[in-house]
Amino acid sequence: MPELPEVEVVRAGLERHVVGARLASVAVLHPRPVRRDVRGPEGFAAALTGRTVTGARRRGKYFWLPLDNGDALLGHLGMSGQMLVGPTDAPVERHLRVRFGLELGRGPGGPAGPSTLDLRFVDQRMFGGLLVSADGAELPREISHIARDPLDPAFDDDEFVRRVRRRTSGVKRLLLDQGLISGVGNIYADEALWRARIHGERPGDRLTAAQVRLLLAEARHVMTAALAQGGTSFDTLYVNVNGESGYFDRSLHAYGREGEPCDRCATALRRVAFTNRSSFFCPRCQPAPRRRRTTAPAPLTDPV
Ligand SMILES: [Zn+2]
Repeated sequence: MPELPEVEVVRAGLERHVVGARLASVAVLHPRPVRRDVRGPEGFAAALTGRTVTGARRRGKYFWLPLDNGDALLGHLGMSGQMLVGPTDAPVERHLRVRFGLELGRGPGGPAGPSTLDLRFVDQRMFGGLLVSADGAELPREISHIARDPLDPAFDDDEFVRRVRRRTSGVKRLLLDQGLISGVGNIYADEALWRARIHGERPGDRLTAAQVRLLLAEARHVMTAALAQGGTSFDTLYVNVNGESGYFDRSLHAYGREGEPCDRCATALRRVAFTNRSSFFCPRCQPAPRRRRTTAPAPLTDPV
């Protein structure tokens, strides 16, 4: 599942290859990926055809392409989505869902006359999707509730620390709360918690400010490292901007390592169920929190 570094690789790839291009044709090959667009597949295509892409931006795991009319093409890769840029005559992918014909203007020193490329949205499981956000060039209203991510220069560390320390739910849950901080998925949350030696069920209000700052720093560390590695998958003939970084195989200390020795203390790592996924941690480096001295059980979810 693409996490923030992978989505940032996608954004950077789109910036490099698609900005300045005109969407000469738009073909929706399956209705599901555009299900959140109220215009329907045909309206989606009509709203985009002829527009020019003016940028490539991101918030958390959403990316968007601002268009020359002030609208934006907003996307999410879901579990298995890919954005591919390549020659129009490249073989069609089995799970190709939306196909954009790009017309590139004549750049300085570029070929005489417009050249053409395809931008393809490929998604096997179709949890991801695309929509046209009206007036969304600056920030699509569909994602305006999502907090900035920790790699965003405008992320407010002090405010994050304050908000975490006011909450009673487990800190892993808080790391995955898109209203507090975006882009930290399950894998990076486990890795950051392992590095900071904090158990994911430690309540936010039981953490010191220094611990929250350390956790934030560790989240940035793992995401930046993944980003650096993800950036290498780019200079191929058929540019794959899905950001398969190889990070997962090489650099993980906690995630997916149940029963393997901790890289710090050699204790066997544990796995516990977490929502519909798993959490991996070292029981020695990341001791479980003591129970709160109340008679009522801790709430499973935060009060809204
Ligand atoms: Zn350990």
